Amino acid sequence: MSEQQTPRPEDEEPHSRPDDVEVEAEGDAPAVEELDPETRARRDAALRRVRKFGDPVLRAVALPVERFDERLQREAEQMGELMHDALGVGLAATQLGVLHRMLVYKAYVDDELTVLVNPEIEWASEEREVAEEGCLSLPGVHVEVERSVSLRVRGRDARGEPLQIEAEGLEARVIQHEIDHLDGRLVLDRIPKQARKEAMRAMREAQRTPSAA
Ligand SMILES: [Zn+2]
Repeated sequence: MSEQQTPRPEDEEPHSRPDDVEVEAEGDAPAVEELDPETRARRDAALRRVRKFGDPVLRAVALPVERFDERLQREAEQMGELMHDALGVGLAATQLGVLHRMLVYKAYVDDELTVLVNPEIEWASEEREVAEEGCLSLPGVHVEVERSVSLRVRGRDARGEPLQIEAEGLEARVIQHEIDHLDGRLVLDRIPKQARKEAMRAMREAQRTPSAA
């Protein structure tokens, strides 16, 4: 815990450390080596379309969506498919090089895909917790990130219908992670310097063996 910049008493409590969750890479997904060749090929193809660290687009702030048309709905569907193929739990349009404020996520296997456009966090709990996150744009990186445990977010769906979501735990974490992407922010910005160095090293190693990323 000494690595944390702002240690909080609740981090001592076991329930606030759900180490088994992982953002953008399903925690219960089988190891890459165990995937059947077809799933693995689909995953590799999907990952190739995701912008990776070093691409300046990941540092840009996305603009609000103004037109809710069929094209947007199609884009949302494609993002959902790509996320699924990549075995991810969340994806922001930024990660595909599209700089508008749209994200998709599916925190749990049985959930429906949620499409969230122009999200605004209305409220986030002061209670925060630390858990491991991965990121499709940062191959090989798994870092401990502190986030609000629960939040309320307002936005629109792909058709422009107003949406209000109250989320906690993994769902709240994924939403915060994806909104960060829309603001040009990465998990690397939310961790201490030493952890960042280790993450950079992990990324370099993953680049040498791309399919194990
Ligand atoms: Zn990410």
